[in-house]
Amino acid sequence: MERTHPCLQCGACCAHFRVSFYWAEPVPEKFTEKLNAHRSYMRGTDSPVSPRCVALQGEVGGRVNCGIYEDRPSPCRDFEASYETGVENPRCAIARASKGLPPLSAEDWK
Ligand code: SF4
Ligand code: SF4
Repeated sequence: MERTHPCLQCGACCAHFRVSFYWAEPVPEKFTEKLNAHRSYMRGTDSPVSPRCVALQGEVGGRVNCGIYEDRPSPCRDFEASYETGVENPRCAIARASKGLPPLSAEDWK
């Protein structure tokens, strides 16, 4: 049986960090806000209290999905889950911890 990708049962990074990127990236505009002259960010991710990208569907820590997966900005494409390629990503662990989730380990990819 195929295992569910750990990120599809998490989504913590989409609800913890401000996700900003070069303004000209082809991300659907209605999901973005202007940060400054050069950068935009995913709407909802700059909340100081409860950040959450407006494109994130589902429940963090439950079943989640990026609603604009094919059009997501570069920081989302570049963000690697810990040990997905064999290396730890401390920011993945930080995001998960903020939602009460344990850090991923190499075991999660076996
Ligand atoms: S915090 Fe890590 S495990 Fe969770 S969705 Fe982001 S990359 Fe995936
Ligand atoms: S665009 Fe998708 S992957 Fe990026 S923060 Fe939003 S929901 Fe997460």
